[in-house]
Amino acid sequence: MDMFFNSTNSGLVELICGCMFSGKTEEMIKLIKRAQFAKKKIQIFKPYLDNRYKIDFIVSHSNLKLPCHVVEDSSEIRSQILKQTEVVAIDEVQFFDEGIVGLIQELANKGLHVICAGLDTDWRGEPFHPIPLIMATADIIRKQYAVCTVCGSPAVRSQRTVPSKENILVGSGEIYQARCRMHFNPNEVKVQKINTDMEV
Ligand SMILES: [Zn+2]
Repeated sequence: MDMFFNSTNSGLVELICGCMFSGKTEEMIKLIKRAQFAKKKIQIFKPYLDNRYKIDFIVSHSNLKLPCHVVEDSSEIRSQILKQTEVVAIDEVQFFDEGIVGLIQELANKGLHVICAGLDTDWRGEPFHPIPLIMATADIIRKQYAVCTVCGSPAVRSQRTVPSKENILVGSGEIYQARCRMHFNPNEVKVQKINTDMEV
């Protein structure tokens, strides 16, 4: 936690955001471990939707992991918060309903430290709702960067590499690549498909 905020007992909202493979979960696990050393009472949540890895853990791409509660929506988080909880961590926060925005504020206003991690843009490069609302109301924002798979520059976008009409397509290295602004092209998948059709 930043020095400035360390000196206060008030609640706090911290958002870790960025594209895929930017180390968001890893950063969150680091902050949680720091809170564990400080003997804080912590609860960790993630949405049911994220079934990439073993279900009741949050796992970083480098395989750091911590046990967590898997929940359907923001109201289920509210109902599972224990009285003694001091720190609430929420991974893949972009997959929650808009109720998550109010809940995060509610918890921080009660004096809790809320740490969220999520994708700031979707596969089209558009803001991933409700992240913009969390971003506007957070106290600390940590933007993470990945490495572009084409040129090695800092990456800020998640490039989808398989065709899909779905707005949300949960996956990892086989479906997405980190790209810089120059090498990100949401129409790339379509273009590849047309080329393949022409070859046939
Ligand atoms: Zn690039």
